[in-house]
Amino acid sequence: MKKTGKSKKSACKKFEMDITDYVLGDRTFLTKSKEKKLLVHLGKCLRCQKDFWSWRKIWAVMVGKHQSERPAFKAKMAALMAQFKSNPMAAKKEIGSAAGQVYDILIARGEMPVYLIRKETGLRGYPFYEAVGHLVMGGKVTLNKSNGSYDSLRPQGVNEHLQTGI
Ligand SMILES: [Zn+2]
Repeated sequence: MKKTGKSKKSACKKFEMDITDYVLGDRTFLTKSKEKKLLVHLGKCLRCQKDFWSWRKIWAVMVGKHQSERPAFKAKMAALMAQFKSNPMAAKKEIGSAAGQVYDILIARGEMPVYLIRKETGLRGYPFYEAVGHLVMGGKVTLNKSNGSYDSLRPQGVNEHLQTGI
């Protein structure tokens, strides 16, 4: 499948954060009117619908369905995100740097279980999830639901590079 994460239209770009907020249930910036606009856009934009479903899947897999639905966990994440987003520029930088660290370790070592990536990069919580979300949605990494105990991430950039580099 062709990935078009980098050539995303600017009309869609402005909904990026809204989609993650909506999926995570974060109301810090997602006002009722923004949510309404998002839902209208989702209704007619297949690309954003794809992002939306990817995010839901990532979130459920990364956090665990039961964990992600617990009110105490939701409240904790909401507080973290509010703190995080009080400085959007710093947040963007932190997510970018987290995404870089995750991608680098995957390129260096190949497919890895999520818990091990977290352990070795020292990344945790919201920046980690958000970074992985962006890597997966940008087509740089695939999230593999394992039939054993651990889900893993596999880098895609290497394959793409090899395929296009020949
Ligand atoms: Zn869109």
